[in-house]
Amino acid sequence: MDKAIRLLGLIILLVALLSPISLQAQEMRPRSVLVLDQSDRRGPFYYQVFSGLRAAVSAHAHAPTTVYTESLDLNRFGGKQYEDDLRRFLEAKYRDRPIGAVVAVGAASLELVLRWRPQLWPDTPVVFALVEESDFARLNPPSYVTGGKVSVKFSDAVKAARAVVPDLATVAIVGAEWERQVVFRGWKDQVAAGIEGLNIVEIVGRPMPEVLARVAALPRDSAIIYTGVYADGNGNYYPPSDALAFISEKANRPIVVPAETFLDAGGIGGFVLVPTVIGYEAAKRVLRILDGEKPENIASSIVDAVKPIFNWQQMQRWNVSESSLPAGSEIRFREPSFFEKYRWRAVALVAAILIQALLIAFLLRERHMRRTAEVESRKRLSELAHVNRQATAGELSSSIAHELNQPLGSILTNAESAEMILRSTAPDLDEVKEIISDIKRDDLRASEVIRRMRSLLKRVPFETKEIDLNQTMREAFDFLSLQASARNVAFYLQTSPEALRVKGDPVQLQQVILNLVVNSMDAMAKMPYGRTIIGRTEVNGGASAVVSISDSGPGIPPDRLIDVFDPFFTTKEQGMGIGLSIARTIVLAHNGQIWAENQSGGGAVFHLSLPLAA
Ligand code: ADP
Repeated sequence: MDKAIRLLGLIILLVALLSPISLQAQEMRPRSVLVLDQSDRRGPFYYQVFSGLRAAVSAHAHAPTTVYTESLDLNRFGGKQYEDDLRRFLEAKYRDRPIGAVVAVGAASLELVLRWRPQLWPDTPVVFALVEESDFARLNPPSYVTGGKVSVKFSDAVKAARAVVPDLATVAIVGAEWERQVVFRGWKDQVAAGIEGLNIVEIVGRPMPEVLARVAALPRDSAIIYTGVYADGNGNYYPPSDALAFISEKANRPIVVPAETFLDAGGIGGFVLVPTVIGYEAAKRVLRILDGEKPENIASSIVDAVKPIFNWQQMQRWNVSESSLPAGSEIRFREPSFFEKYRWRAVALVAAILIQALLIAFLLRERHMRRTAEVESRKRLSELAHVNRQATAGELSSSIAHELNQPLGSILTNAESAEMILRSTAPDLDEVKEIISDIKRDDLRASEVIRRMRSLLKRVPFETKEIDLNQTMREAFDFLSLQASARNVAFYLQTSPEALRVKGDPVQLQQVILNLVVNSMDAMAKMPYGRTIIGRTEVNGGASAVVSISDSGPGIPPDRLIDVFDPFFTTKEQGMGIGLSIARTIVLAHNGQIWAENQSGGGAVFHLSLPLAA
């Protein structure tokens, strides 16, 4: 029993000790990555590789993961001494930083990492990125290494060149010496082998001035394929995209480029390596390793990081149409069309124009409706005014008849006298002439009475013209003078010395005056004596003409001063109560005003003011 328990305890201890070992091995991998690239700090292509890697790590890591990065600058520096110094530097710097995976970007970097690993990071898996297929074969990495290979074919670059120059006969290859090339070193043999029907010119490893001169003098049916220039041949180093910018400025033909980061430096595009994809693929392998997978279980493979991408602005420069590009090509830096550029402004503008158009249509309709209403109301006013004038005419008919009788009577008398004179033996022809002229004068007087009557009874549409208010006033007073004397009213008219030019309808304005005067006569009808009406015209401040009709009647009760203008307000037995309301409507239609007051000395006074014509 005791033995058995002890044996069981031993077994449990063994299981406890052994089984977690493998688990621990999986779990204990430090969640930190050291990325070593071969370029100088912030070389755009390598920086993009790193960005892709870091973005993928942040997005997909299950636990916080630290990413360190070092640029080894192997393009400009090299040799045993430099390598040893670098190694010592890294050793010192990362002494206390356990690393879960080392990422080598570029074949040169991978080569060093493999050499340093036993000393710096024994047991740490290595992930590589941006290693060309042939470099991978040459380095033949051991099993703790996994990564993504890249493959960019020279034939693809030629294909892109044919797309941008359809009658391509020559390609000029511009770049650093083949040995210095990282990814495109393998093209050397392909270029040497040549391509049927294509003249290949190598401007490789030449000093910058020579390069610039030669790219400016290429034949019309040629294209440039740029692989990257790092130095000008005089010991000056460039980032290869800067060198491309110089070359592009001078080049007389389009430049096909094999890397995405050359697109905005003057390259027209081509089948380009997309660095972020390379970084992303490396990150995926790193995360699998940090999560416990063994590198030997993750096979190295070619990453799909080559895409046909073209620069729209360069396409415009070299007159390359979109249709001639390889199928599935992406176009970058496209200048947005006017509509794309100003979409919201255009939409706002169109909306504003539409709203404005609607508003204008609405206002036009309103105006039309108002016009129609105005015309309608004027018609009604004319009709009502006509009725009112007929009533006035009826009221005045007895005195008008009297007025007509007078000239007719004298015409008759004169005619009889003339007859008698003519019957005499020696007729006095001079006297007859005088009598005839009297007859003519009386006839004119009678016809003037009829003319006035007709004008009062005329059914006329509202019509304005420039008139002299003094004359209108005079005519109205003449018209009423007989009526005034018949009704025992003293009649006075004081017109302003200057003409009162207003825009108005003379018949209607005369009607206003008639209504006011007839009302005054009515108001004084019960007075035994002292019936007086005074008409006045004057200019008020140079802008308006004012007409006043005052009487010596009883006046208007103060609380009724406003009501008198209301339709159907009347205090008369036979009154209709529309005279003043029509007067007010006519005055308002002339943009004028009318109001009533009581005079301090007794009697009412009505004023109407009308704007003077400009
Ligand atoms: P109607 O003459 O048919 O009554 P109006 O509209 O011309 O209609 O006049 C309305 C009323 O205003 C009159 O009934 C009268 O009471 C008053 N009125 C008008 N003019 C005068 C005036 N000069 N003096 C006193 N009252 C007046």
